[in-house]
Amino acid sequence: MLQEKYFFLKHFFYLAIHKLTMDFSSKLLENAVNEMSQFPGIGKRTALRLVLHLLKQPKEHTQNLSQSLQLMRDEIIFCKNCHNISDKELCEICSNQNRSEQIICVVEDIRDVMAIENTSQFRGQYHVLGGKISPMDGIGPGELNITSLVEKVKSGKVKELIFALSSTMEGDTTNFFIFRQIEQYEIITTTIARGISVGDELEYADEVTLGRSIVNRIPFEASLKNS
Ligand SMILES: [Zn+2]
Repeated sequence: MLQEKYFFLKHFFYLAIHKLTMDFSSKLLENAVNEMSQFPGIGKRTALRLVLHLLKQPKEHTQNLSQSLQLMRDEIIFCKNCHNISDKELCEICSNQNRSEQIICVVEDIRDVMAIENTSQFRGQYHVLGGKISPMDGIGPGELNITSLVEKVKSGKVKELIFALSSTMEGDTTNFFIFRQIEQYEIITTTIARGISVGDELEYADEVTLGRSIVNRIPFEASLKNS
């Protein structure tokens, strides 16, 4: 009986929500909500709330928002050296003469660069892979910026590679894959000594812990023995 009631309630709410997302009085509103709900974590109800919010604001707010999004999409490029998101061919970090090109920190994306930059503990350059090897999501080594990293190591300019991917299975797999590609070259490989638990993402680690873990980095091979 209770199960029946639950079943009914569930369907009632489903229909109510479904109705909300379907019965728009305006096609223009519906289109805007559909576009907005494509963001991760934004359902139709939240999208509707955001769109209604925009409608209450002066028109310029929406104009500024759409213009800045369009401009970002059109103009943003990837740094030709480190693959970080940049406004210029060479990003601010790669074009800074005070940053050493001998130490390269390997990260997944721009959020990791920002997190490490916030610690002010790293004066080398980055190499942004653009993701992690993840067969489940169809991401193989070929989809990532690994070849250009190996080329950099081959050139002989790099003295140390710091692996700073999150300690997930995908992160470990990616580190190991790169390590195997470069272990024949004379280069030091290290990994950041994490005070954060396994699986934590870099961007969520606090600045002090992350800063300390960069300073106290450990040889990569030692990290393999521990795991
Ligand atoms: Zn760069």
